[in-house]
Amino acid sequence: MAPARSRTLLIVPLTQADPADMREAMAAAVTAGGDAVELRLDYLADCSDRALELLLTDPPCPVLLTCRSAAEGGKSAATGAERAALLARAVKLGGRWVDFEQAAMGQAGELLDALAAAGSGCELIASAHDFDGRPDDLPAQLAGMAPAAAVNKVAFAAAGPEDAWAAFDLLRAAEKPTIALAMGEAGMPSRILAGKFGAFGTFAALAPGAGSAPGQPTIAELKRLYRWDAITPQTKVFGVIGCPVGHSMSPAIHNAAFAADGLDAVYVPLRIEPGADNFNRFIDAALERPWVHLAGLSVTIPHKENALARVGADNVDALARAIGAVNTIVFTGDPAAPLRGINTDYAAAIDALVTAMGCERADLAGRRVAVLGAGGAARAIVAALAHYRADTTVYNRTVSRAERLATEFNARDGGGTVAAAGRDELPRAEAEIFINCTPIGMHPNVNASPLPAEFALPAEAVVFDTIYNPAETLLLRRAAAAGCTTASGIDMFLNQAVAQYQAWTQRPAPRQTMRDVVLRKLGDR
Ligand code: NAP
Repeated sequence: MAPARSRTLLIVPLTQADPADMREAMAAAVTAGGDAVELRLDYLADCSDRALELLLTDPPCPVLLTCRSAAEGGKSAATGAERAALLARAVKLGGRWVDFEQAAMGQAGELLDALAAAGSGCELIASAHDFDGRPDDLPAQLAGMAPAAAVNKVAFAAAGPEDAWAAFDLLRAAEKPTIALAMGEAGMPSRILAGKFGAFGTFAALAPGAGSAPGQPTIAELKRLYRWDAITPQTKVFGVIGCPVGHSMSPAIHNAAFAADGLDAVYVPLRIEPGADNFNRFIDAALERPWVHLAGLSVTIPHKENALARVGADNVDALARAIGAVNTIVFTGDPAAPLRGINTDYAAAIDALVTAMGCERADLAGRRVAVLGAGGAARAIVAALAHYRADTTVYNRTVSRAERLATEFNARDGGGTVAAAGRDELPRAEAEIFINCTPIGMHPNVNASPLPAEFALPAEAVVFDTIYNPAETLLLRRAAAAGCTTASGIDMFLNQAVAQYQAWTQRPAPRQTMRDVVLRKLGDR
């Protein structure tokens, strides 16, 4: 039997100053798919009885009433008692729930009387917010909440995504309906996965920038990107670790792929600050909680080396070991070796190249290749070219970086040669294949090219630009005009996402769906 859909409420906070605008936004929240609205009375410029009547007479959905002080993350300058009195007036006119900070509960007398009055139909949510970090005593805080509260809520600033996992601990142990949220970008999974752990509710903004707390997604993101309505207690969790991760296209690509494939899975952003300690803290927290069902990770800058170190050389593929970086982690479920590390960048790049050339990887042997750049992308590509015995010259602005690559990979394990040169030597390059691994020509500098305009590309040359935004760079346009074979960074980008998907799911990836998402996202930008 299919698991029941989560009953967790999608609550849309409304922060308009004008009561008429807020009333209009209530209808928009319902249209967008919200189950309830939170009326933030602290944002209202007019809290007269008339304004409250406008908001609370025949509302289009259940209403949560809130009025926060600055210390509680709100805008009201009123005392606790004054805010309680305002909320009491509102409760007499309507409202399904009213939120009041536990620390100010001593001043809530008037509100508690209004709630206790026969027929109020309104329930108390006792809340505790910490904007500085995760308090050590959260279970004790929850246990100490007002017994009169029907729902408990805690929200705290997240330092890393492991704080979202701590929020799930609270939800699992809760004895009454509970909301537990880790705020900020790092805490995002606590909002996306609130339904998986049976939270009473989660909050989603009506539009970008309209949220009432840091890290709040929009309702459209929760519903469409993260498939809120499809998340169940059994949903497998995947994600991208990086810093930053907000710009990543990976959540859009993998969630669309899961949807197309009908998998009960969701892919979330996992912002982890630089540093091996931060990376390891998250992995420890994940391994301690198998019930999160974390099944796979993409790893991006600056954690690829940390991932290799954590997974351990014995548990990574030979290519990841050769490159010194892991960009994909699989959670195996085997306590003896719970993590497996892969590098999909290497195969993704080399296959984008040989597919465009219409040949096999082995056909690269003896081909003369010019690699422009000596950073992370160049490293994976040079490792692959050397392995398939191409003869490579790395041209780089900082020659010493090119020399390091050459020293490391030249004729390694019987592979091809790797030489180093400065960028100024590029005009004299005699290569058959040119591969750009610099950001020159990337959005927004789309009128730049890593090869000088006067450089005459021979028609029989192959030109591969690893840049994927834009899909067709100036370098590729010039190459196509010269009659060269071209390969785009889009194919490399897609290949690595497809390989990750297959490593995690053991199924063929819905490549066309993933490609459509990439092109649409690039078009949006
Ligand atoms: P990286 O580690 O920062 O390396 C950047 C390289 O470009 C360095 O060699 C750097 O030279 C050189 N460079 C940067 N700006 C330059 C300039 N103005 N003039 C001359 N050289 C310059 O970056 P990365 O991770 O390798 O990424 C490089 C590019 O590869 C990205 O911009 C991206 O477009 C592409 N990429 C594509 C994919 C894909 O899936 N399609 C994946 C990863 C990367 P110095 O050593 O002198 O600083």
